[in-house]
Amino acid sequence: MKIASIEITQHRLHFDPPFHASWDTRPRTFWDATIVRVHTDEGLTGFGSGDLMVGFAGHEHLFVGQDPLDIERHYRVIDNIQFHYGRCWPLDLALWDLAGKIAGQPVYKLLGGLTDRVRAYASSGTLRDPQALADVAEAYLERGFRAMKIRFHRGDWRKDVAALEAVRARVGDRLDLMVDCNQGWRLPWDTYPAWSLKDALTVARELERVRVYWMEEPLHRGDREGMRRLRDMTDVRIAGGEMTRELYEFRDLIAGQCLDVLQPDAALVGGITGLRRVAAMAQEHNLVFTPHTWTNGMGVMANAHLVCGTTQGVYMEYPYDPPEWGLDRRDYMMAEKLEVDADGFIVMPSGPGLGYALDEEMLAKTRVA
Ligand SMILES: [Mg+2]
Repeated sequence: MKIASIEITQHRLHFDPPFHASWDTRPRTFWDATIVRVHTDEGLTGFGSGDLMVGFAGHEHLFVGQDPLDIERHYRVIDNIQFHYGRCWPLDLALWDLAGKIAGQPVYKLLGGLTDRVRAYASSGTLRDPQALADVAEAYLERGFRAMKIRFHRGDWRKDVAALEAVRARVGDRLDLMVDCNQGWRLPWDTYPAWSLKDALTVARELERVRVYWMEEPLHRGDREGMRRLRDMTDVRIAGGEMTRELYEFRDLIAGQCLDVLQPDAALVGGITGLRRVAAMAQEHNLVFTPHTWTNGMGVMANAHLVCGTTQGVYMEYPYDPPEWGLDRRDYMMAEKLEVDADGFIVMPSGPGLGYALDEEMLAKTRVA
């Protein structure tokens, strides 16, 4: 079997009211998706999404005519392209979807088949006042979730802590609570600085008091010494690595004892092929491996296969903050939205590949290129 062609389409869903993501100073009124399709000469197609495939155009010939199952070879080529041009890891996801379809097996089985489900944590995206946030937390509980991630971005950490305390007061210990400080990186238009170690330590001491499960991205991504020292100074688990671009940076973050919780995203770095190595490294160091998944439902699903196949983990991110960030927006490209079950688990599909299907009608309506 050979790869016959690679097809890439771009889509944009406009929405109103806008989504005020806590980590973005600009309100969001649309959500872009790139769909990559890898077709074979025997009529099978693998699909991938989750990142924009910037820099891939013109490199199709490096894959056409190749055996689709030579995944480590393809990984090296994609890694070379991302170094010279831009990230295009959804192609790796499409190749795994295709490999599963060729084998007639779900991808998590090909990766090791450790478990068929992973508990999701509800990852909120907006900043709400304390009582409204507590209402959201109760709604998550009713939906089956056992953990929730809260955003710290109100400009004054005291206001963030007040919102966290309101949630803890309302739900007690029925929810594990994570806090995302979002200090690791900025969007192109956001120029304000990251926290210093002492800023982060002040907040960490508040988080200890409220029994927070992990503190995410408390420092700039390059401040590895700060992360290592903060990890020593607080009992709260330190999480990070969501936009880290190179696998060797994870090696160095692990060797440097900078993090308790590693959060690479298969749609944004390394694909499934690269991140299964990071998952193995994390396990050998007794660290938590739990991918970032803030892309779309296809990206969430790919990360869930990786986790279920290799490490299980305690929780996996499930971006969900209706109405601003509901499944109608997050998963608009999917024929069937990725739901959690009544107990808050993402359950692996039994069909071959990554187990998702495209909503072709919606994709036709939202196509922009
Ligand atoms: Mg994050």
